[in-house]
Amino acid sequence: MSDFDAVILGAGHNGLAAAVHLASKGWKIAVVEAKSSAGGAVKTQELIEPGFRHDLAAMNLSMFAGSAFHHLYAGELAAHGLRFIRATRCFASVFPDGSHLGIGTNAAENTAAIAALSPKDAERFAAMSNEFGSIAPHLFSLLGAPMPSTQSAKTVWRAWRAGSMPLLTDLLRLLLSSPRGFLDRHFRDEKLKAMIAAWGLHLDLPPDAAGGALFSYLETMTNQAFGMVIGAGGADVIIKAMTGLLRAKGGELFLNSPVASVDIVNGRARTVTLADGRKLTAKRAVISNIHPKLLFNGMVPQSTLPRRFVEGLTTYRAGPGAMMIHLTLDDLPDWSASPSLKSYAYVHIAPTLAMMTRVYGEAVSGLLPREPVLVVGQPTALDPSRAPEGKHVLWIQVRVLPAEIRGDAAGEIEATDWASVKDAYAERVLSIIETQAPGLRTRIRGRAVWSPLDLQTENPNLIGGDSLSGSHHLDQNFLFRPVAGFSRYKSPIDGLYMCGAATWPGAGTGAGSGFMLAKMLAG
Ligand SMILES: Cc1cc2nc3c(=O)[nH]c(=O)nc-3n(C[C@H](O)[C@H](O)[C@H](O)COP(=O)(O)OP(=O)(O)OC[C@H]3O[C@@H](n4cnc5c(N)ncnc54)[C@H](O)[C@@H]3O)c2cc1C
Repeated sequence: MSDFDAVILGAGHNGLAAAVHLASKGWKIAVVEAKSSAGGAVKTQELIEPGFRHDLAAMNLSMFAGSAFHHLYAGELAAHGLRFIRATRCFASVFPDGSHLGIGTNAAENTAAIAALSPKDAERFAAMSNEFGSIAPHLFSLLGAPMPSTQSAKTVWRAWRAGSMPLLTDLLRLLLSSPRGFLDRHFRDEKLKAMIAAWGLHLDLPPDAAGGALFSYLETMTNQAFGMVIGAGGADVIIKAMTGLLRAKGGELFLNSPVASVDIVNGRARTVTLADGRKLTAKRAVISNIHPKLLFNGMVPQSTLPRRFVEGLTTYRAGPGAMMIHLTLDDLPDWSASPSLKSYAYVHIAPTLAMMTRVYGEAVSGLLPREPVLVVGQPTALDPSRAPEGKHVLWIQVRVLPAEIRGDAAGEIEATDWASVKDAYAERVLSIIETQAPGLRTRIRGRAVWSPLDLQTENPNLIGGDSLSGSHHLDQNFLFRPVAGFSRYKSPIDGLYMCGAATWPGAGTGAGSGFMLAKMLAG
């Protein structure tokens, strides 16, 4: 039996952020991870050929770069190898008529491209960009505060003092708006609206989801203001830096160590038992980065849990699934809309709001979408070190898909198990990209296809391939995440805490829950 102040279950970036902060405060820390490497949904591997490095899941590290955790530990993380690469051409959408529209860090260029579609929209976009400076501090303060908390209440108070009722009502309206409602209120051009709304499909926020506007708005404004950030050499650079820093502070990381149970002694979480029988004792806290649906369904005695909490977790919904297609390439896609598209971090193939609505409806009805939303990531356009000279990798995220297949909206694929379906579906995806980048297939050297279920096998937290660890619809966000009354990381069991994407502020690489929880425990 080994004794620690805190045992952290799961080495996702939130668990590691909590570990680093508590170790900095002098706590003796153990992190136990089921898999052979840390990082969860942030991993980089040579998947197909030597010398070609693929971000298996997350590629965009802007949320981490802008996080409060990173601000506090930037120097120490840099000393442990953390380096970012900033894209100045961030994201673009391509359209069936052969045109494109993109956002980069040159605001004048962005506005000019929008003006070519609609001068009125360009005016409105420029005004929105100017207003962002006064709105952003309030929004970031809210997203970086425990929910609910005096800090979040103070944010509302400060917004009222700074801009009185109009600013407060604008913020509230933004928080509640659907992407379509927000975009229709501000813009006329359908391509501009589609380019912005595509971000909603990175989460499970199709055009008509209430509360879905905020993410698309923030991504558009922050990419323009700060650029998009990826890791030098791979997204795992944040994980290597965090594990290096943790070890330097005396923390221990146990890999290949799945948790079997959390044992309750006198009503308090005390001991963690690993699948191989080893036991670790936590004097002050057990912190779980394991999805609460998994933790509280088998690893903790159900009899110790209040009915309200159990019911809340039982009805906590996954978002739809994602699929990843990783390619090694002899050259980047030759985008027919413009050669400049080769230099964008992301190219979205999500041309209309109608299409996004249809894709989401098909996926949640169990159908393979006829034409899914595609996020085509081009990491080697920014970071050539990830592939041999002149060669490339392509990161394709397919959104959104059913975990359990009931049929194919296109009526072409008959199988309904992902092992049989995934390669046929990958062919559909490649054909869609070929309509915008003819000849892509001739550049492909090798490919790896990860179905939603493969993603879950790689990281059990991604239930059904849900990249979000739980839908981000309003009823599961803010103070409802993961269960109303338990959004401040404390579980119903004394000494047992929750962090990770299933807790506020949700999915993404912002390390918010792990860091906020650690600050609540140790200051
Ligand atoms: C395909 C995909 C693409 C994404 N792209 C982006 C992106 O570009 N940018 C972005 O910001 N976000 C992205 N995300 C979301 C983001 O990566 C995740 O929300 C985030 O990394 C989740 O972090 P976490 O700390 O909650 O834990 P996770 O990363 O989910 O890690 C949890 C850890 O717990 C471990 N674990 C589970 N069960 C046990 C057990 N019984 N015992 C021990 N350990 C266990 C797992 O193995 C895992 O290591 C993406 C996600 C996916 C899936």
